Amino acid sequence: MSNMPEILGLHHVTAIGGDPQGSVGFYREVLGLRLVKRTVNFDDPGTYHLYYGDALGRPGTLLTFFPWPGARLGRVGTGQVAGTALTIPEVAIGYWQERLRAYGVALQPITPRFEEEEVVLRFQDPDGLWVELVAHPQAEARPGWPEGPVPPEYGIRGLHAVMMLEAVAEPTLCFLIEGMGFRRVREEGARIRLAVGPGGPGAWVDLRVDPHASRGRVAVGTVHHVAWRVRNDAEQGAWRTHLQALGLYVTPVMDRKYFRSIYFREPGGVLFEIATDSPGFSVDEALERLGTGLMLPAWLEPMQEEIERALPPLTVP
Ligand code: ZN
Repeated sequence: MSNMPEILGLHHVTAIGGDPQGSVGFYREVLGLRLVKRTVNFDDPGTYHLYYGDALGRPGTLLTFFPWPGARLGRVGTGQVAGTALTIPEVAIGYWQERLRAYGVALQPITPRFEEEEVVLRFQDPDGLWVELVAHPQAEARPGWPEGPVPPEYGIRGLHAVMMLEAVAEPTLCFLIEGMGFRRVREEGARIRLAVGPGGPGAWVDLRVDPHASRGRVAVGTVHHVAWRVRNDAEQGAWRTHLQALGLYVTPVMDRKYFRSIYFREPGGVLFEIATDSPGFSVDEALERLGTGLMLPAWLEPMQEEIERALPPLTVP
């Protein structure tokens, strides 16, 4: 473990959505994230893959969706990422409470966490996905998307943490610490916070243990997988070798055009990905045009017209 390159934090979280237009309406218009890429699910080109993030789509700010209109709802449970938290500045909590109420979002009461180190506003997106906006003193370190519909001083700054729900703590805890280099940093009730790499917002995972919770089912309104950051292909290769040596099944490297990926399951069943920082979202669109066109990987480009015709229409302001 000691000679392994450091995991730098969260790269992205990918969830299953419903209607793609509803997704853009909520994440871009209400939450004020930038739609940084509009592409298709590379493994299922009949459906969109929508990426939201900060102005540049930096790793660590990315929330991505496979919108499956009309698909059945999933069930939040163990072996899943059961909560996705996004960082907001401390001054922004009241603003968000009012904004979300104005859009008819049902809010849970605002709650402090970890001895008031952070303050949490919790709600579900239109498809039932649990999202938290977390006010934290270190929020200002990241810029968000200042040109979006939310005033820059209140804007979402990127991923904060993911919460993994598990029936038992030990196998996952042991794997995260011994296998992936996480450090146990906080504990409150049934929630254990671990940090990786530099730690801080965007480099945390919370493990919540509930032996009575039922097993999750991945479908609309649930998280499909969580991706962790490494700098480049060489670091990813070292992790692949290391994880295989631990006895895990790890997929071959997959070219996701904007990054490269390997996938495996942690002992509790959550699907993990390790993704490279490079090459990023400007590889096929200029920064000022990110998310405006349907972008495809080279092997699907010959079918661009058919693919576009089969996808539901999507209007982005
Ligand atoms: Zn992914």
